[in-house]
Parts: sequence; structure tokens; C-alpha cells
Amino acid sequence: MTQVIRHKSAGEKGRLYSRRARPTAHTDMPDDATPPERGNPDANSPVAATPHPGLLEHLGPAYLARPDGELLWHNDSFIYFARTVWDVSSRSRSLQTAPPALQQAINTLVETGHFEPGRIQTEAGGIERIFRGRHFLSQQNGAPVVYGYFEDITQRISAERRLTALDDKLTDVIRSTSDWVWETDTDLRLTEVSARIAAITGAPPEAHLGKAMLSLGTLPDPMPGVPDLHRLMADRRPFRNRLFLMRDETGQTRRIHLSATPFFDSDTGRFLGYRGTGTDVTRALEAERDAVVAREKLEEAMDALEVSNAHLREALDKAQSASEAKSDFLALTSHELRTPLNAIIGFAELSRRQIDDTVPERLPSYLDNILSASGHLVQIIDNLLDTVRIENETVDMDLIGTSVADLVRDTISMVEVRAEMGDIVLTIPRVAEDLLVLADRTSARQILINLLTNAIKFTSEGGRVGIEIVRGKEDLLYLTVWDTGIGIPVDQQQAVFDRFHRVRSDAFTTNTEGVGIGLHVARNLAQLMGGDITLESEIGRGSRFTLALRLWEHVTLEPIDELSR
Ligand code: ADP
Repeated sequence: MTQVIRHKSAGEKGRLYSRRARPTAHTDMPDDATPPERGNPDANSPVAATPHPGLLEHLGPAYLARPDGELLWHNDSFIYFARTVWDVSSRSRSLQTAPPALQQAINTLVETGHFEPGRIQTEAGGIERIFRGRHFLSQQNGAPVVYGYFEDITQRISAERRLTALDDKLTDVIRSTSDWVWETDTDLRLTEVSARIAAITGAPPEAHLGKAMLSLGTLPDPMPGVPDLHRLMADRRPFRNRLFLMRDETGQTRRIHLSATPFFDSDTGRFLGYRGTGTDVTRALEAERDAVVAREKLEEAMDALEVSNAHLREALDKAQSASEAKSDFLALTSHELRTPLNAIIGFAELSRRQIDDTVPERLPSYLDNILSASGHLVQIIDNLLDTVRIENETVDMDLIGTSVADLVRDTISMVEVRAEMGDIVLTIPRVAEDLLVLADRTSARQILINLLTNAIKFTSEGGRVGIEIVRGKEDLLYLTVWDTGIGIPVDQQQAVFDRFHRVRSDAFTTNTEGVGIGLHVARNLAQLMGGDITLESEIGRGSRFTLALRLWEHVTLEPIDELSR
């Protein structure tokens, strides 16, 4: 049963809020639980001095009778009462004998010496009224008499009913809430506490009565600028949801939200204590914390997902460009490999016929063509193999001090015939013999040949191609292969270093052989040697491909003279 236990402080009668029996309608049950003691003239004493009828006049319906029921006196309201309550039909203003119901009460009193006051309920003009009859035994002139009166207790009863209903409501509220309710005296010691507290402390509510409220737990460390509970209560200020830490019976800390209001004497304004509630928010706070952790985990997972998405996108891009590269490769190589192969087959057949004709005048030129086509094939295949090697990171590099003069001489000798055939003037620098760069000789040669071949390939007859050598910042040497050729559009200057990329827009490129991997291989080889290739170009004016390589050692460059061939 839910109840609020109230501490019985000294001098105060203890009170127990509990469900009271609801008053039933039309009850005749005695009002007082304790029967009046015999001989007490103030209570329902069977023998009492007869009050003066004038006094009885003010008590409501009153009478004085002999034990046999003869009415010696009654007041006016008694007549009215008798008519309404007992259906007495007398029209006269006085009654001679007690009506049967009253006679019964008189008999009981005379026989037992005691009559328990009961309720008499009546309804007059639609208004319910409740009376309580009180009857006393007395003496008049030595003869026994009975007198009594009927008290209108309607208002008292309805006030009691309202109080009971209110009490029930409060009890229901306290019972249905998971919070516990408490009240203190002026010293902030518990005077009331609801049974719910047992759910936390494991001890019955009575065990806490008389204890200082704030001794039931501890307060968390105060936050700067926020007054703590001791301060607030000393200032008699209300508070809401202040954290209070209590230990439960298993020793675990429970987080309680305390809320309370001070209450004061309505007449004097004197502080009487605090009334409030305690709410166990441990679970709620844990759930909140769990939610935060879950959210953090979710965010982490989302970050991880983002990262793996990025990887996936990267892989997809790679796969896509790999597949594009493959198709480009197939498109280009099918044409580029077939052309020289067809040439070889064609000229080989012609040669064969020439031999049969025994007039082999053209044989040497056919064989030249075969050799040139084979050379071109070898170059393409070498480049393709290099691409694969670069991708697999299996390029063998022998980085040593490499003579720049030798490099220039070697590469020029490889391309000069071609330049001559294209009527292109080559401009070559004179290079100091001791100028060395850090390079793999074969790779450096391959790069320069590629740059020079391109320069010649993309420069029309009568144009110029050359090499320029400049010492750059720190320990770099710049070897620039320049031409006065067709140039490369700005938006393609980066792309020409991509695999299989050719500037297709112009008719010139379309008509020149190539698979678009020479520059890709060249730049990768340069980077593997610690250098790079950069490009400056202007459409119609020419291009400058600059190969940067590390100097082998600190040497002074001799002035470079330009030699034209
Ligand atoms: P290929 O010459 O075999 O096509 P490269 O990788 O050497 O392949 O060159 C890629 C493309 O760059 C060429 O197809 C051409 O469009 C452009 N290119 C390279 N060098 C020059 C140059 N000196 N002048 C103009 N365009 C050039």
C-alpha cells in the first residue's frame, strides 16, 4: 500500500497518509471510532445535567423526553425535523410523544446507558442533508429524563469527503510515479518520505526519517558559477533537477535528480521546510551516454565508409582508365603494328620477285624499306615493353656519371638522317667534355632520341630543331629539345605525357606514325633518374621539351657554342 510516512516529531501527533475507507452513502455507522467513556459529562455521557432548554434551542432540532417517550419539550426545528426525517404527519406546532425511531434510541440509551451517535441522512427539496443525533440520560426533579439534539453535519461530511478524495488523488499520484517524494523540517531533516526510496536505498522509508536530507548521498563537484544545493537550501530557494549521487544497496552509484520548493507558514511566513521529489535518472543518463557512443561509432563507421568509398572510386577510376588504355592501345597498335608489318611483307615479296627476275636493281631499296619498317616495329615494341616495365617497377637503372657531350653526339647521329630527309636544320650545342649528369645512359639516350624524333616528326620541311643546354638552379642541368613545328595546344600539354595520348585534332598528327607512348615512357624514365620533363609550346610556333637531370658533380660549364648542321 502506497503511503507517505510522516515522522512523529516531539509534540506533534503522527500522521499516516493512506487510503481511507470512502464514506458510504446513507450510512448509520457511528462517526467516532472511540466510544465515549462512561462518566464523562462532555461526551455522550448517559447521565448528564439537563441543559437549559434555551440552550438546546440553539443546537438545531432538540428535545427533552421521559424514558417512556412522552415529550416534555422540543424546539420548533424539532417539529420540522420530525416531519422531514420520520414522516411525522402532525400539523400541530408541538409533538406529545417521541416518534418510533427516536423512541428506539431512547430505549437503547435507557437500557444500556449508552447510545452511539449515528448519522441520519435526509433529502429535503432535492438537497441532501446529514444529521447526527446525540442523546443523553439525565434527571429532572429526581425522575430520569432523556434529552438530545440533531446536529447538521452535512458541510463537515462533504468537507471530509473532499479531503478524502484529495488524499486519494495524492496517494494515486505518488503511487504511480517512479519518483520518490520527500519533505523536511526547518533543519532540513526528513519528516516524510515515500516508499519508493526503498527502491534505491533498499531500506524502508522509516529508516531515513530524521536524517539530514543531503546526507542521503553526495553532491557532484560544483560547477563554477553555479551555487550548490547547500547554498540554495540555505537561501530557501527552489531548485529543479539538481544532480545528487546516492549509493544503492549493491554499492552502485545512482544518479538522482532532486527538485524541491521551500514551504512557509501561511500566517507567519516562517520557513517550515522543503518539499520535493527525487528521480532516478541513472538509466536515462546511461541511455544518453550510450546514444552518444553509438553516434560516435556511427560517425566513425561513416568516415571509414567514406574512406573505403574513396578507395573504391580510385580503384574504379584506375580500372576505367586501364580499360580505356587497353582500348586505346588496341586501336593504335593494330594500325601502327600492321603498317610496318605490311611494309615488311610487301617489300619482302617484291624482293623475292626481283631475285627471281634476276634483275635485282631495286633490291637494295626494298631491303632498306624492310629494315626501316623493322626498326620502327622494334621501336614501338621497345616502348611498349618499357611501359610495362615502368608499371611493374622493374626498370633496371644504372645511374652513373654520364657524359652529356656523348649523349648529344649519339642521339644526333641517330636522327640526323631523318632531319636531312625532312629538310630540317639541326642546331646542336658544343658541350664541355667533362660535363656529366647522373643518368642511366640507355634511358637518357632513349629520352633524347624520342624528343628529337618527335621534334623532327612534328616540324614541317624547312623548319628548325635543336638542343639547348642550360645549367639550372642547384645541381640541375636542363637539356631542351626545341623545334619550330606545329606546337601543342595548351589544354593538351599535360595530356601528351599520358599513355597513348596523341593530339588528334590536327591533320599533321593524324598523318604521322606513333602510338602515343613515347613521351609517357620518357617522362617516367626521367623521373626514375631523379629528373623530369617539362613542356612549353605555342601552336604554330613550336615546342620546347626540357629534360632536367642531376649534375654528376660540381663542374663549371664552358660557354656553349651553337653548331648548325
Ligand atoms: P607518338 O609521337 O608516338 O604519337 P609521343 O608520346 O611521343 O607519341 O607523343 C604524343 C603526342 O604528343 C604526339 O602524338 C603529338 O601529338 C604530340 N607531340 C609530341 N612531341 C611533339 C612536338 N615536338 N610537336 C608537336 N606535337 C608533339
